[in-house]
Amino acid sequence: MKHPFHEPGGIYVHVPFCVRKCAYCDFCSEDDRSRIPAYLNALVKEIGGARPPSGLAFDTLYFGGGTPSVLAPEEIGRILAAVRRRLPLLPGAEITIEANPGTLAPGALGELRRLGVNRINIGIQSFSDARLRFLGRIHSAKAGRGAVRRARAAGFDNIGLDLIYGLPGETASDWRAEMRSAAALGPEHLSCYMLTYEPETPLARRLARGDFAPLDEARVGRRYRDTVRFLADRGFVQYEVSNFARSEAVQSRHNRKYWNFAPYLGFGPSAHSFIPPERWWNEAPLGRYLKHSASERSPAAERETVGYGQQIIEAVYLGLRQTRGIIVADFEARFGLDFKGTFGRVLAELRRKGWLDTSDAARCALTPAGMLFLDGIASMFVAVDFPDAPPA
Ligand code: SF4
Repeated sequence: MKHPFHEPGGIYVHVPFCVRKCAYCDFCSEDDRSRIPAYLNALVKEIGGARPPSGLAFDTLYFGGGTPSVLAPEEIGRILAAVRRRLPLLPGAEITIEANPGTLAPGALGELRRLGVNRINIGIQSFSDARLRFLGRIHSAKAGRGAVRRARAAGFDNIGLDLIYGLPGETASDWRAEMRSAAALGPEHLSCYMLTYEPETPLARRLARGDFAPLDEARVGRRYRDTVRFLADRGFVQYEVSNFARSEAVQSRHNRKYWNFAPYLGFGPSAHSFIPPERWWNEAPLGRYLKHSASERSPAAERETVGYGQQIIEAVYLGLRQTRGIIVADFEARFGLDFKGTFGRVLAELRRKGWLDTSDAARCALTPAGMLFLDGIASMFVAVDFPDAPPA
């Protein structure tokens, strides 16, 4: 197999605090912000002890969560300084912060820009106050619009917005109105996620009690196809199943690393790291992470070596998520496998169903219809009996 460091790495910092938990969310976060100082100390200590492989530099840093914007800019600055002291962050690195419109204090956006944060991803989710209430968001539609305008005024020229579709009772025109409102704010990037009911969340419990009927699968599928068409007409090019950008330059450089097997280091509770072929992930929730830090134990909860067979499975799944698909020559060079010889029967089946984009033989990519069945299609590839060790 080829050496995996084919591009610079990414750095992820998990901020596990939110003002209040949203009804649909199962991410690692909590609403008790009294532990921010302890978290910052443990995080800075973890970053200070990082040992990146020699020769690996980083060109992205992503503050995710949770809600990183609950931290004051000087706290973000402290984390940034710790990263810069310990890890080679390249000039021109993409530095992203996720922000909740309900947490952006006046002046904070300008401070973040001055610290070098050059991309902001704002969790708008909806432009309807009723839908925001259903989701348990802390902000109003007006606050969402205001946050985008203030980010622009503070000098952010790379703004991403997150939206959620597929809510109960949502009509095609409701969803188009949401996308129209988002596009009218002129963001560089849009992420449109289908609402999912994660186990143990308040929304999943309400669904189980029969408080509301979920949107049926056929309608959710139509919303997805609508999204791709509607945003394409407004100049947003889809590059991943849920992600759309105005140009290649403003695609999320950081998230693309996850899909392209680039190395990354994650810090904070629940954060994942991948330095091929090793993957590990940190203790969670925050209390466990803090305990490990206080007793000088590694924050890593578990480690695994991603073997040859597993790497093939992941390369297929992550490749198919992207509209450019799997680059056949890269796949073959990496795994020493004849792609079409190995997966010929699956490819024929996908072609027959209209799920394979046949416009470019150098790539294996799904059509928008195929993207809807991504998980099932990935399982068809996984079911093929490919070798679990590289050819001699
Ligand atoms: S703000 Fe984001 S991370 Fe926090 S609870 Fe809501 S969805 Fe989850």
